[in-house]
Amino acid sequence: MKYLVVGSGLFGSTFAYEAAKRGHNVTVIEKKSHIGGNIYTKNIDGINVHMYGAHIFHTSMKNIWDYVNQFAEFNNYINSPIANYNGEIYNLPFNMNTFNKLWGVKTPKEAQNKIDEQRKSLNLPTTPTNLEEQALSLAGTDIYNKLIKGYTEKQWGRKASELPSFIIRRLPFRFTYNNNYFNDPYQGIPIGGYTQIIEKMLKSDLISVELNTDFFDYKDKYLNSGYDKIIFTGMIDQFFNYKLGELEYRSLRFETEEMDVDNYQGNAVVNYTDSKTPYTRVIEHKHFEFGSGEDNKTIVTREYPQNWDRTKEPYYPINNKKNRELYKKYVNLANSEAKNVIFGGRLGQYRYYNMDQTIMAALNLVSHEFSN
Ligand code: FAD
Ligand code: UDP
Repeated sequence: MKYLVVGSGLFGSTFAYEAAKRGHNVTVIEKKSHIGGNIYTKNIDGINVHMYGAHIFHTSMKNIWDYVNQFAEFNNYINSPIANYNGEIYNLPFNMNTFNKLWGVKTPKEAQNKIDEQRKSLNLPTTPTNLEEQALSLAGTDIYNKLIKGYTEKQWGRKASELPSFIIRRLPFRFTYNNNYFNDPYQGIPIGGYTQIIEKMLKSDLISVELNTDFFDYKDKYLNSGYDKIIFTGMIDQFFNYKLGELEYRSLRFETEEMDVDNYQGNAVVNYTDSKTPYTRVIEHKHFEFGSGEDNKTIVTREYPQNWDRTKEPYYPINNKKNRELYKKYVNLANSEAKNVIFGGRLGQYRYYNMDQTIMAALNLVSHEFSN
């Protein structure tokens, strides 16, 4: 078979690797000047810079952990972000260290009582219908106001009451002194960066990679070039020229600065949870690899959320009801009008996939595609 894979991100590259392993020919086209999509890292002064925001690999799926470890050795980094709320510092995710700093409570019972007391006056529905209700019913008013509301509304550009509740359930909420941002048993950062993973996936005589090549500049050519199938990992609404309307996305602007200091903020990730600071997070990349790179040099990236339009990169799908319904219409259109195109990955499937889920989705496609 001859496959065209549009996009050299983790989804497209995993598929290409598995297809080539089975003897198929794959052409990968990528509109950017580099491979890897959002997981692309670049070595600057010995520091592996996460060019599209902090990427921490974490999973509860042992098979996916073993799979990704074929392509890189991982360190034992544990993500423990710090929240800065108008100069007050708190541990994340929400745990006994956070509660102690907020209220001076020392035991889980004292913390629980404090949260219950705050929730009591709120008259919340038994089943939360949006992110605000979900956060208040989990954590009470202080945590919501200091650590969630400002960050969330900056990040998504809309009120917390207009967002789906699952977004906040991504974060652990626990009554132990444990600052691990994730509950998953497997976690780490690939030593030497993420780009090597994609390089190894795409290194095959059966795979050719064309950079700086936008599918939409040659759409007719690609649709008529004799590929048996096209794996499309760009935006599904763009594929159909937005004919049913635009899906909504959230975009980001990354501002990266090199500094002549050894250690700027003492942690890899610091979240700014107030509503006035225009950025959500500051990443200091060297801490992902425990201080790698030259002495007296560090690189930090500030992450500014911004509205998406057709000139911007779509980083996050906005999975509210309206968009989910529109997305379903595009899936129906794809089933009737684009039978030899498979839509995959975070943009093709309009899903808030973490890296492990992206790999899993690609491997599911592989099993389906090569089952005979
Ligand atoms: P992408 O990486 O977006 O790849 C799609 C590729 O297709 C891109 O290279 C794009 O340029 C290319 N493309 C698009 N349209 C065209 C076209 N028309 N022609 C040619 N090429 C095209 N996951 C975690 O597990 N842990 C984290 O800590 C984490 N942090 C994240 C932080 C941020 C800021 C973001 C945005 C995501 C984060 N993720 C994280 C999610 C992770 O980035 C994704 O799961 C993964 O990168 C998705 O891979 P993909 O191949 O689906 O998409
Ligand atoms: N969040 C928050 N305060 C924080 C960190 C996260 O309110 O300090 C909320 C916010 O709504 C965010 C969601 O939790 O979008 C999920 O956070 P996560 O860190 O998983 O976001 P991602 O890394 O995917 O951007």
